[in-house]
Amino acid sequence: MTVELVPTIHPDHRELVESIFSAVEGVLAACPRELYVRRSREKAHAPELWDALVAADLLAIGIPEELGGAGGGLTGCTAVMEALSRAGVPPLQYSLTTFSREAILRHGTERQIKEHVLPTISGQRRFCLGVTEPEAGTNSFASRTVAKATGTGYRISGQKVYISAADEADHILLLARTAGPGEKVGRRSGFGLFVVDMSLPGVELRRLDIEWHAPEYQFEVFFDDVEVPADALIGEEGLGFDNILSCLNQERVVIAAWALGLGEYGLQKAVEYAKVRAPFGTPIGAHQGVQHPLALAKAEMEAARQVMYSAAGEYDSGRDAGAQANMAKLLGSRAALAAVDAAIQTHGGSAFVYETDVITLWPMIRVLQIAPINNESVLNYIGERVLGLPRS
Ligand SMILES: Cc1cc2nc3c(=O)[nH]c(=O)nc-3n(C[C@H](O)[C@H](O)[C@H](O)COP(=O)(O)OP(=O)(O)OC[C@H]3O[C@@H](n4cnc5c(N)ncnc54)[C@H](O)[C@@H]3O)c2cc1C
Repeated sequence: MTVELVPTIHPDHRELVESIFSAVEGVLAACPRELYVRRSREKAHAPELWDALVAADLLAIGIPEELGGAGGGLTGCTAVMEALSRAGVPPLQYSLTTFSREAILRHGTERQIKEHVLPTISGQRRFCLGVTEPEAGTNSFASRTVAKATGTGYRISGQKVYISAADEADHILLLARTAGPGEKVGRRSGFGLFVVDMSLPGVELRRLDIEWHAPEYQFEVFFDDVEVPADALIGEEGLGFDNILSCLNQERVVIAAWALGLGEYGLQKAVEYAKVRAPFGTPIGAHQGVQHPLALAKAEMEAARQVMYSAAGEYDSGRDAGAQANMAKLLGSRAALAAVDAAIQTHGGSAFVYETDVITLWPMIRVLQIAPINNESVLNYIGERVLGLPRS
């Protein structure tokens, strides 16, 4: 690729992004794409990825320096995700853990930060995220998992679905209803955000068989009268929904980085193939029917990338990054989808041979149009919150 990585970044962030792009080299040496894909074909894990992130001190990025972290904010986390994803190894657990600890940093007590956030720096604490439920789906207001106050803590019962890396995480950041049935609650009120130890009695996992080429897996997670202490509650009881919403901009931007990185990875493969594949004697990349979709994908991804780093910068400045963060997720996931689709077309039949590692990109890039938030909901946000159109 001829476009340089760093000059497209705002001058304030260039040095940080540049240093992170160099720091991921060690991670890629420990967990190259080939290992990542091989492990996923074997339905095994790739602990090398997490361990190398820790060894390179990349989990310290995003934690303020005064707490013992390396600073860097969301811009830093975005760069970590983008750099690894560009090499075809998007670290899902990094995304889950950085999101969960953001919620605790914002809403937790000093003690909860010490207990749950600081050990993430050394990789000793790893989170999964429990929001989606089978019935409620996108409409998390309709979640049924309940945390009932017991006097000394809470008793949690219910079920979550599609929970990524639930078997590797030691804790889950869980959204649960705290208002009992029949209690009058507002649409958003009546929820709590809990940190639950996954080894507690009553927590059960069932692995889902999902088309998804990554060494991390999705689970149904069942909570059967799981007893948690009172300080498992993060933030105020009743405000769990608002507390999770306040961190979603962070997630949107990191997901954009994930998608755009993977899109670039696919595009790079397509460009290399188009330079050498020549069924009619000249490389197919010389034909504009092949070249233009790749060029368009490149331009659209570059534009989305600008919005993404601009959203991260807004977030780090403490301004409301909602509009830009949502646009970054939307534009990034769509541009990356077009890039991977063009990569498949360019590869012809060979795209479907697992060995070429092209079709292996498709399920993940397709999922990113739906999870963690579907693009229709992002459009709803832009329509209502940015354009001021009436709510549907
Ligand atoms: C691989 C994978 C990993 C995941 N990891 C996690 C995880 O770690 N933790 C977690 O909590 N969840 C996770 N999820 C769940 C994911 O966030 C949900 O799948 C997603 O939020 C959509 O919910 P749903 O699948 O129930 O779709 P539904 O809510 O049933 O929606 C179906 C479709 O309807 C449309 N739609 C829905 N709502 C609207 C709307 N308001 N306006 C317009 N159109 C709409 C969209 O096209 C959507 O795709 C994961 C999912 C997958 C596939």
